Formats: sequence, structure tokens, C-alpha cells
Amino acid sequence: MADLTKKYDVLVVGGGNAALCAAISARRAGASVLVLEAATKFYRGGNTRHTRNMRCAHDAATKELTGPYTEEEFFDDLLRVTGGNTDEPLARHMIHESKAMLGWIAEQGVRFQPSLGGTLSLGRTNSFFLGGGRAMLNALYRTAEALGVAVEYEAEVADLDIVDGMFLSATAKRGNGERATIRAGALVAACGGFESNIEWMKQYWGAPADNFLVRGTPHNRGTVLKLLLDKGVGEIGDPTQCHAVAIDARAPKYDGGIITRLDCVVFGIVVNKHAQRFYDEGEDVWPKRYAIWGRLVAGQPDQIGYIIFDASSLTLFMPSLFPPIKAATIAELAAALGLDPAALTDTVAKFNAAVRPGTFDHTVLDDCRTEGITPAKSHWARRIEAAPFYAYPVRPGITFTYLGTRVNKDARMLMKDGRPSANMFAAGEIMAGNVLGRGYAAGIGMTIGSVFGRIAGREAAANARN
Ligand SMILES: Cc1cc2nc3c(=O)[nH]c(=O)nc-3n(C[C@H](O)[C@H](O)[C@H](O)COP(=O)(O)OP(=O)(O)OC[C@H]3O[C@@H](n4cnc5c(N)ncnc54)[C@H](O)[C@@H]3O)c2cc1C
Repeated sequence: MADLTKKYDVLVVGGGNAALCAAISARRAGASVLVLEAATKFYRGGNTRHTRNMRCAHDAATKELTGPYTEEEFFDDLLRVTGGNTDEPLARHMIHESKAMLGWIAEQGVRFQPSLGGTLSLGRTNSFFLGGGRAMLNALYRTAEALGVAVEYEAEVADLDIVDGMFLSATAKRGNGERATIRAGALVAACGGFESNIEWMKQYWGAPADNFLVRGTPHNRGTVLKLLLDKGVGEIGDPTQCHAVAIDARAPKYDGGIITRLDCVVFGIVVNKHAQRFYDEGEDVWPKRYAIWGRLVAGQPDQIGYIIFDASSLTLFMPSLFPPIKAATIAELAAALGLDPAALTDTVAKFNAAVRPGTFDHTVLDDCRTEGITPAKSHWARRIEAAPFYAYPVRPGITFTYLGTRVNKDARMLMKDGRPSANMFAAGEIMAGNVLGRGYAAGIGMTIGSVFGRIAGREAAANARN
């Protein structure tokens, strides 16, 4: 157990990628470091446990990456997904620093592997962790502890003593209900967004938030974020913005992870509880569109949707943890889903009648499309006619929120009046809104955490020693 009575140079709140990168970096810069993680040891590491890859700029192919991905191309991708809603100097700084990250992360014991099949075509841009996010985290924890970083689990920070932009101490609630007050020379807040706090989500989404599923940890409740904003730290990001995808409606409320995501929208049609289609399922290639379906389903009655497809598509995508619901006819499928059989039969018949002949190729924007139907299906439209028929129920799965603390290039928090905080830094999801005003590019969550975590740790260590 860590000594919570001593004053540390750097206190890191959180136990995921951003926190561990900060802790290692601060320790390597000579600081004494304490990490407070709300979760138990087994569940340590927040949403990072579920990750598979990170996006870093690189000038040439590597052992694992199939080609170059320049800083300019990375920035162009970021501009496109955010619609320009990013802090350009900060984003460019992050992208530049990302070039060194693959090497730095590997130095901390993390191993990479070539991208897996069926993973959104990321073989050139994104480096995959050998063994996934958990293996990545285990390596970071091993390194941190070997360097002498103290880690305390079941220590949820519930209060912060901050005077005029200066951090003095944190109060942690322990697993046994006790409270401990910990003093440190500098604070790194790396404790995620507030997506697990459904009550807070409801302030922006209303009652529909009750039907949201949280893809990751139940511990990212935004307690520290709220304390920081209440105590004068500047706010960044639109509180309604978050990364949300369509996931299997049978997933658990929290921590369903990657195996409940459904990538089969493009192979069928998606209907709501009235058995009506509501959006173009073939608008663009899936990597560019997968992150809009969470919001689309959130906008439907009771926040539920159903992906309907036939036997010809069953083996074309990565399956969910749960088997699809199967029936011999569309009417029987509707009955199994609790939908009106006549309405679903009619929707499928109208869709089938609108499908124009084409050459199906799900790897490109093919010419299989509908005509004379609203909404259209612009690509990959094939008649749903080969029994048996299948369906997956889907709900919005929230990955993380974008409201955060404002920071500068040193990952130092900026107060509401624009002044830099005396000794408070932030990294990861808690400050992702500085770079991601909206939208998402696969793998950038880990880039934000690693790059700003490393910077925050270094700067916090320098700050604490001065
Ligand atoms: C299913 C899934 C798959 C994903 N896949 C990818 C991917 O492949 N690539 C990618 O780039 N991104 C991915 N993401 C997003 C990615 O997980 C995050 O962007 C990244 O992990 C954020 O790191 P972080 O350290 O900021 O937060 P987290 O890893 O979530 O860590 C936050 C930590 O803070 C702790 N905490 C929270 N509140 C407190 C408190 N009050 N006191 C103490 N500790 C607290 C939590 O327990 C947790 O350990 C995925 C997310 C999910 C849910």
C-alpha cells in the first residue's frame, strides 16, 4: 500500500493510459509520484482496457504499419472529422509529438502488432497493441511500479482543495468508506470524461440518456472534472458532444467493450420500433460513418433500432458477442423482435423494390443503390430476400464525452480568466475537447492520452521541483 500521509511531488488522478503515461514521465523526470485509481486492481485502467490501437504520424512504413502517415495528412483527417472544431496550434503540436510516441510507448514495454482483419481498414495509420489495451496497460503498470511510482486502488478522488488556481490537496474515498487527504506539489488530472454519470448526461440529453449504454468503465463519472470546473478551471467543449456508436442492445449497462459493437449496418437496413427506416445505411465507407449511428439511434423513439439483413451477409462482418435473432420469414423476425410484422414486411418489400442492379463490393463505394425511396441507401443496397433472416437490436453506446478542462501546449490547465494554473495539468479524455470539438478519428483517444500524458507528467515534475 502507498503511504498516503507523505507529500508527493506529483499526484496523478486516474489509472488509464493518460494517467500511466503521466506517472511514468513524471517519475522519469525525477519526481515522487502517487497514482490514485478509483477502480479495484482487477478493473484498473478505465476505458483504456478496451482499446486496440492508437493513431500516430510517421514518415515511413514500419514493421507493423503499411505506409507513411504524415503530420499534414493526420491534421487533414482531424479537420475533416471535427469540421474545423479544434484548437489548431494545440492539435498540430499533438500530431507533431505523436511521431515520437510509438517509440516512447514501446520503451515503456508496450508491444505492437500489424492491424487485424475487419478492423476498419487502419493498417497504415493505426498501431495495434499486441494483446490489446489490457496488455498495454499491464506493461505500463509494470514499468511505472518498477520505476517506483506508488499506485493506490479503490481510491476515488471526491474533493480537491484548490486556492486561486493552485492545487493543495485531494480527498480520496477508500473502498472501505474511509477518506484520506493527500498533499502534492502538482496535480495531473487524467480521470476520463463523465459518460458513466447518467444523471449528468440527462442534463443535456433528457430522459433518453436512461437508455444509453456505456461502452467502458462505470468509474468515469466526471467527479474531478466537475470539481475543477466549479473551482475556476476553464471549460472546453460542447457538453452534448460525445463519441457514440450503435451497439448490441443486449450489452450490459457498462463495460460491454468492443465485442458488443455492430459493424453490419452497411449490409442491411436499420429500422426503428415502428419498423421504419430512418437514415441512409450506405452513405459512406463504414470507418467514416460508424460513429454517427449512436446519435442516430439516440434520436429514435425509445432509443432502439434493429439492423435487418439476410443470409447472404451473415459472414461478412465481425459478429457481436450475442448471436443475431434469426427467423424463416420477415414477419416471423418482426414478431421475435416485438415489431409489427405487417409494417416490417412492408418496409422490406418497399426497400427491395427500390434496389437497382449493381456489382456488390463492400470494400469500395459500389454502385448498388436504391432509387425512388426515402431515405435512400446509396451503396451496398442488395435485396433482403435470402432466408433465413437476421436482426440485431441496437442502442446508443457512449464511448466518451468531450466536455473538459482547457489546457495549453504544456498540458497545464487554464483558468476561466485565461491564466495558467499554478500547478494543475490534465491529460486524456478529461481534456480531449481541446482537440476534438466534435467527431472522431479511430485511435485518436489514445494519441491524446499518450501525448498529453507524457507532457503533463514532465511539466508537473518540473513544476513540483521549482
Ligand atoms: C470499447 C472501447 C474501445 C475503444 N477503442 C479505442 C481504440 O482502439 N483506440 C483509441 O484511441 N481509443 C479507443 N477508445 C477510447 C479510449 O478508451 C480513450 O480515449 C482512452 O482510453 C482514454 O484514456 P484516459 O486515460 O483519458 O481515460 P481512461 O482510460 O478511461 O481512464 C480513466 C481512469 O480514471 C479513473 N477515475 C475516474 N474518476 C476517478 C476519480 N474520481 N478518482 C480516481 N480515479 C478516477 C478510472 O477508474 C480510470 O482508471 C475506446 C473506448 C471504448 C469504451
